[in-house]
Amino acid sequence: MMEFVGISASPGIARGRAFLFIEDKPTIPHYEIPASQVDHENERFLTALRQASDEVKALAKGREAKLFEAQILMFDDPDLKSRVRTALQEARSNVEWVLVQIIEEMSGKLAASDSQYLRERTIDFSDAGTRILGHLLYRPKARLSDVREQVILVTHNLMPSDTLGLDPTLVLGIAADVGGKTSHTAILARSSEIPAVLGLSDISRHVKNGDEVIVDGTAGAVIVNPDDATRARYEERKREWARKYAILKELRELPAETMDGKLVSIEANIETPDEVDSVLTHGGDGIGLFRSEFLFLQPNRFPTEEDQYQAYSSVLKAMRGKSVTIRTLDLGGDKVMPGISLETDANPLLGWRAVRFCLSRPELFRLQLRALLRSSVHGSLRIMFPLISGAEELARINTMLGEVREELRREKVSFREDIPIGIMIEVPSAAMTSDILAARADFFSIGTNDLIQYSLAVDRGNQRVAYLYEPFHPGVLRLVRMTIENAHARGIPVGMCGEMAGDPLATIVLLGLGLDSFSMGPIGIPLIKRIIRSVGVMEVETFVRGLIPMSSGAEIETAVRRWMEERLGFSSW
Ligand code: PEP
Ligand code: MG
Repeated sequence: MMEFVGISASPGIARGRAFLFIEDKPTIPHYEIPASQVDHENERFLTALRQASDEVKALAKGREAKLFEAQILMFDDPDLKSRVRTALQEARSNVEWVLVQIIEEMSGKLAASDSQYLRERTIDFSDAGTRILGHLLYRPKARLSDVREQVILVTHNLMPSDTLGLDPTLVLGIAADVGGKTSHTAILARSSEIPAVLGLSDISRHVKNGDEVIVDGTAGAVIVNPDDATRARYEERKREWARKYAILKELRELPAETMDGKLVSIEANIETPDEVDSVLTHGGDGIGLFRSEFLFLQPNRFPTEEDQYQAYSSVLKAMRGKSVTIRTLDLGGDKVMPGISLETDANPLLGWRAVRFCLSRPELFRLQLRALLRSSVHGSLRIMFPLISGAEELARINTMLGEVREELRREKVSFREDIPIGIMIEVPSAAMTSDILAARADFFSIGTNDLIQYSLAVDRGNQRVAYLYEPFHPGVLRLVRMTIENAHARGIPVGMCGEMAGDPLATIVLLGLGLDSFSMGPIGIPLIKRIIRSVGVMEVETFVRGLIPMSSGAEIETAVRRWMEERLGFSSW
């Protein structure tokens, strides 16, 4: 039996057999070949090409065939075959090496092309190339969609695009070497209600396919090949968790109202339209954050205006008039889109991401704005812009939004004129100038995942510095307080959609600071509602006033824990 301790990223307990999903970069061998071996190497290439082509054709069956069209065309392309043959003759190197050079050269040309269509094919080309290479090196590309039975996923790291194929009914738990509480794997796990422990350093090197694994996402522990006593203990805990969770779910019909009558809104964060059901079953008052970038992470193509319009409209319709806040594309940083090489930034978290990227790609951004405006007729839409750093940036966006509105009016396409337009407060400069921004926005939503990372200079996904990532740091609380006060002084509401909003320890602090709405993974809603319904707003305001002068996050956290225990007996909930 082996035990690993990591970061508790999504609560619950799961037990099952390990499925190792490891995608480390292959080492490409390089050796010279005599002229007599050129034919043999070429034959190897043609065989691998056929195998890759058959594999993709099989994958394409029963799915949206368009996604694979470009790859299939590439496998049949005579130009690729002749390039490989010529390169083998000229370079006299093994075919894996030759192929990598060709993939890099052609991907580079496609990426630099003036044609948007060709630029978008870069990812198809590299995907096809990697597949052929996989066959040459006898390394078939693992895919999460290959999972066919219930498993515990053990991995080094998951890219957002890997998660597209993840089926939450088959993946019972996740254990990963890297990732923190606010990494996208954590967010996905919580939204799909999959227990997850991340930041385990090197668990993927110690576990074999088929090992028995217990993931305790509540405590942040992973047990590999448990003995009988440990297995029995965890089975008991699993039942206890299910019992508590059922009680919390019963709260879903009740409003999030404090004992002295302050009503707040408890909303949900979602990544894809299919999560709306979970929002409703957990009693969400609305959607406080729809991360639209997940639509853009589909391999092989950009979503069209129509794709986006359909996705946004379906969420608005399904929420039947409840508020839906859709955030415009927030790519870059930790959210990488296949086919757009943002990784050239030396420091991606401070680089070309979110609205910075959108403003420099107006043709993409306009499509999204058009789709959003058009969908507004189907429900109660709010549009939100991420990573705003100051008033000028917001002014540029508003100008573009005005132009898109004008364009739709000219085309006689209907949309609502009264859509609230808000911004995320996730850059310290935005919090510091929230008085200025409040005069130019209809609402704020505080994105603590980024606000904490930028104000404390701690990469949100780096487990080595995770101990410094403190939501209760006095510096963070002051920025939150300043933002709420400035918004209220100008009469606009403030929500929070960072993970702090779903942290039960933070609820009374945020309530005491005056937050109007909390948005979180649907699974967290019932517990936060229960806390809010158990306290008075006046008592928490008084308590929180006493926290502000404290000198450290640890001191504040201790005081909050003590209050939660003495006032609510929280540990036994
Ligand atoms: C945030 O930064 O708090 C946030 C909600 O946005 P994301 O986690 O998608 O960066
Ligand atoms: Mg963010």
